[in-house]
Amino acid sequence: MVSDRRLGDKCVFQPFIVQRRQLRTVSAMGNKGETRYIFHTEWYDPVSATVNKFHLSFFPRDRSVEMYDLRAQRLFLKRIPVEGVEERDLYLGNTIVVLSRQLKITDYADAFTREQITSKRQRTFAMVKPDAVHRLGEIVDVIQSRDFEISQMKMVQLTRLQAATFYREHEGRPFFESLLDYITSGPVVAMELITTNAVKKWRATLGPTDSQEARSIAPESIRALFGKDKQLNAGHGSDSDISAIREIEFFFPSSKINDDLLPQTTAKLANNTCGIIKPHAVSKGHIGSILKAIKEEEFDISALQIFRMDKVQSEEFLEVYKGVVSEYPGMVQQLMSGPLVALEITSGVHGPQTPIKFREFVGPADPEVARELRPNSLRARFGEDIVKNAFHCSDLPDDGPLEVEYFFKILQ
Ligand code: GDP
Ligand code: MG
Repeated sequence: MVSDRRLGDKCVFQPFIVQRRQLRTVSAMGNKGETRYIFHTEWYDPVSATVNKFHLSFFPRDRSVEMYDLRAQRLFLKRIPVEGVEERDLYLGNTIVVLSRQLKITDYADAFTREQITSKRQRTFAMVKPDAVHRLGEIVDVIQSRDFEISQMKMVQLTRLQAATFYREHEGRPFFESLLDYITSGPVVAMELITTNAVKKWRATLGPTDSQEARSIAPESIRALFGKDKQLNAGHGSDSDISAIREIEFFFPSSKINDDLLPQTTAKLANNTCGIIKPHAVSKGHIGSILKAIKEEEFDISALQIFRMDKVQSEEFLEVYKGVVSEYPGMVQQLMSGPLVALEITSGVHGPQTPIKFREFVGPADPEVARELRPNSLRARFGEDIVKNAFHCSDLPDDGPLEVEYFFKILQ
């Protein structure tokens, strides 16, 4: 039964063979030189309140996965294709969903995976500065169209202390005070971007510091397109790997820090409604287009942040639909399947009508129906089916502030 032991698609392995194979670097390539990435992952089982550890193998060729239970020392899931898990989702700290289990990727399990993934997945810090936040959708479109993944995103208002700390390398320069005035003059949008060679690539995408110069030597760059001059230049990008680490940590700290230094959300928490760009729409690269569409209808995005929800949070948030709509379990799965973008929506133009008008603009729950009845609605344009309908929005005007509070107060 030699064939049973080969690294083929359908065979079931003896646990010891699997384990031995996973411990060897050479195992990163299956038969016929097939690429295989292996990660340490954790799944929190709320029923037994235990953390279960697995080796997760991912085969990019057919996007299939295999799971090995480290505690029980046996194959847990034999290789199968899994919908919704892509190579780009495989990075440390991210969570992916395999057969309804939310797995947190905690480490690389072999040297091959570490090398391959880290070279493809460098991080950098990007910021849309106050003069360009009104063109956020267009800028995000550029970011997504150039294959950067936006793994973190948050709209914040910097204090002077925070701005001075962030830009401390420029202290004493003649433009320092004026830079602080500028950067604290309104909200900024901070982002962690991931791609191959991210630091260099994002600097090139931004263009030269001076927007005038950018227009002559890099006319397609962000600073050329959206900036004004040497100071009002639309965006920021880390200048090295070391600054990227420091700057990401500044806006997205990995552990609790002094509150005075943590940039705070811009959420107004009143006269608002709540919107969520669902994980499947985020992963398809629709963030920019959706933000642009919202703005074109004269709604304001007064707060924005990327969140990753676990099952408990997802169920809690969607509680009102439990037992009411048959799609509830699918909705819960969709919301926890990857990063989502939560939005606080306000509007001076629509005033007290904002929640109702915004709901109309989001459209009927089923994208098929939306395409018939409201072809310009968000769900008609970006929805796939009733669960993957691109966007969640508060149902009743009273729900809006509560949902906004859930993201921008409770989950902060
Ligand atoms: P960057 O890395 O390209 O952003 O440029 P720097 O690190 O040199 O400067 C930080 C920010 O300070 C720039 O993005 C500009 O917004 C601002 N800045 C830089 N140089 C000048 C200058 O000569 N005059 C003024 N007013 N602002 C400047
Ligand atoms: Mg700089």
